[in-house]
Amino acid sequence: MPEVRSIREADISGKRILMRVDFNVPIKGGKVLDDMRLRAVIPTLTLLHDKGAANIILITHVGRPEGKVVEELRVAPIDARLRELTQVPFELRENLRFDPREEVNDEAFAKELATLGDIFVNDAFAVSHRFAASIIGVAKILPAYAGLLMEKEIEQLSKALTPPRGSLAIIGGAKFETKQPLIEKLLSLYDKVLLGGALGNDVLKARGSPVGASLVSVLPVPTAVAGNDRLWVATDAAVVNTQTQMGRSALINDVRAGESILDIGPATAQAWSKEVAQAPFVLWSGPMGVYEKGFTEGTDALAQALVDAGTGAVVGGGDTAAAIQKFSFDPNKVFISTGGGAVLQFLVDGTLPGIEALKK
Ligand code: ADP
Ligand code: MG
Repeated sequence: MPEVRSIREADISGKRILMRVDFNVPIKGGKVLDDMRLRAVIPTLTLLHDKGAANIILITHVGRPEGKVVEELRVAPIDARLRELTQVPFELRENLRFDPREEVNDEAFAKELATLGDIFVNDAFAVSHRFAASIIGVAKILPAYAGLLMEKEIEQLSKALTPPRGSLAIIGGAKFETKQPLIEKLLSLYDKVLLGGALGNDVLKARGSPVGASLVSVLPVPTAVAGNDRLWVATDAAVVNTQTQMGRSALINDVRAGESILDIGPATAQAWSKEVAQAPFVLWSGPMGVYEKGFTEGTDALAQALVDAGTGAVVGGGDTAAAIQKFSFDPNKVFISTGGGAVLQFLVDGTLPGIEALKK
């Protein structure tokens, strides 16, 4: 586990604190739709306040404004929501990515940011895989510490890299080529790796199953991966005919031309739910189906099995987190990471550039 300087060890009293957070959250009609990332930094805010910080300046990016002011990506709704969640006084600065210098780790921009504080705190695990001025640049100028959320993310995701025997990794979503290094690594650490989503389609195809009109990657899956018997794929699927839009569940060897696999099927969901309930530990990232279009059944079934069984788990990615949050879960058992891409990169490398910048 990377050893970082912790905010718990810093002398905070009377200091101006500059804290990078990741408040890149969905906003609609001036309202924050999902405030999990806001709630997640409240312990750090409280600690800073209790230890007598002179002031707390928060910096974040929102969306991809690409260096220009985009009205819909202003931080005002986030500022308002955070004030409902905490009494701790803070100032939230405007979207960092309105300035083109943020994403290229511009030195002058980092220096400007650094004038805002005496101490820098990084509590933005979810964006710490980026070489940004507010992640890397500032940490080189000011004394830099990990916030409590950052510490917890590091601790929990490091745990996922030393799973007990019999543990299960579940990986879903799309873009096999971007997840291949992760899948290879997990196959060396976990007894079983269950592959759903479009990733599963790629392995099904490589194993000679008909995938019809399903989404598959351009690059084929290497035989060393496809042939690994720790790698599990669905035995049935929810399919839709792309012409008629008719849906049905199909055995995996019976997917017809013109049909797309859009979710794992009911038999697979049931069998995998049993695995989830029996495993000592589960790492899970990515949906089993096209979640945003309503193909939520497979993902939700696994989420329910996980929380019902009280299986210890580390979960990453927006859709997967949303599925778990539909059910009441024990936060001492299930850790929901605030990260998506950062989780995948941390699991592959065991660290992130923004974490390296906080090392002892
Ligand atoms: P992103 O980084 O864009 O969130 P992910 O790798 O997390 O992408 O994958 C999520 C995406 O995977 C979702 O947009 C979902 O629609 C897609 N997906 C999941 N299962 C399937 C499937 N069977 N066919 C096509 N797309 C799928
Ligand atoms: Mg995702």
